[in-house]
Amino acid sequence: MNGLYKYGNFSEGEQTYDLVIIGGGPAGLSAGVYAAQANLKTLILEKGLPGGQMQNTLEVENYTGFQMILGPELSESMRAHADHLGVEFKMADVQSIDMHGNPKILHTSEGEIQAKAVLIATGATPKKLGIPGEDRLSGRGVSWCAVCDGAFFKNKKIAVVGGGDSAIEEGTFLTKFGESVLVIHRRDKLRAQPILQQRAFSSEKMNFIWNHKVVEILGDNRVSGIRIQHVDTGEEQEIEMHGVFIYVGFTPMTSFISNQEILDRDGYVITDEDMRTSIPGIFAAGDVRPKGLRQIITAASDGAIAAMTAYHYIESLA
Ligand code: FAD
Repeated sequence: MNGLYKYGNFSEGEQTYDLVIIGGGPAGLSAGVYAAQANLKTLILEKGLPGGQMQNTLEVENYTGFQMILGPELSESMRAHADHLGVEFKMADVQSIDMHGNPKILHTSEGEIQAKAVLIATGATPKKLGIPGEDRLSGRGVSWCAVCDGAFFKNKKIAVVGGGDSAIEEGTFLTKFGESVLVIHRRDKLRAQPILQQRAFSSEKMNFIWNHKVVEILGDNRVSGIRIQHVDTGEEQEIEMHGVFIYVGFTPMTSFISNQEILDRDGYVITDEDMRTSIPGIFAAGDVRPKGLRQIITAASDGAIAAMTAYHYIESLA
């Protein structure tokens, strides 16, 4: 655990900030860097490890400037960068925000804190299947990110679980690497957009198993197969497999937001392209927004834009 994160309740004198950033993933940390450079008194609140989902990524091979960097190492260098510029950090779980009015009031596990502007950078978590083998073989053949891990499966047998846009788009992407890509879907037709379906059906490498769910991922140190089950008959079979990519949706980390007007129907925070929500002084960045490409670089880019938009907002209050 990083020593620079403060523990304990907020004390008098540290309670009003220009900008409070909720979430210390790449979106929040990059926003911290830009906010500090704009001279904003900035606090990052993080309930877990700094770095967010980067902490769950062993090798990052697509963050520009690094042919390969370990996820925890990139997390630490982003945190150290923000820290060097004077951003404050605090371990706290944000439980609700009074968004209207100025200052905004954040209710956290460590007490209340006030800010002229708030940036929501709490990310989204890929949904899991909750089946045996999934956690144990995560990073050992089980993945939630084709862009990140596809290249590790050159000429291998790959399974994709799901039938929506992500499953089919990422499955088609995986045909660049895999010997074959088998889509396993619990229904008898896909939910993905017709254009994506057309592309997938015309790929010689892509095959489909309908009306089945994956009930177990097999393997000792690496994935060696999957066990699937027919949703109606319950009949099971095992299939040899080297990689399993799971696309059964994401859960945006927005349960602490009671202002439904800034959320879309899936719970993501709606913003304009400058990261403003419809509530003045409330901004959002990174995976917590509805977006096509959820990556470190796109989260960091959102964070930079959000910090500068927040800076202009705060200037306008003076
Ligand atoms: P996150 O990284 O999710 O950070 C959000 C932070 O907010 C978390 O630390 C969380 O603890 C904190 N938080 C949430 N709620 C609260 C709260 N109420 N109070 C306080 N704190 C809170 N992308 C790549 O570019 N390359 C890769 O190789 C790659 N590999 C990946 C591998 C995996 C297994 C996964 C899941 C993702 C991968 N990604 C990769 C995607 C990338 O990690 C994400 O797109 C990126 O981390 C999103 O950044 P973020 O800051 O928006 O959110």
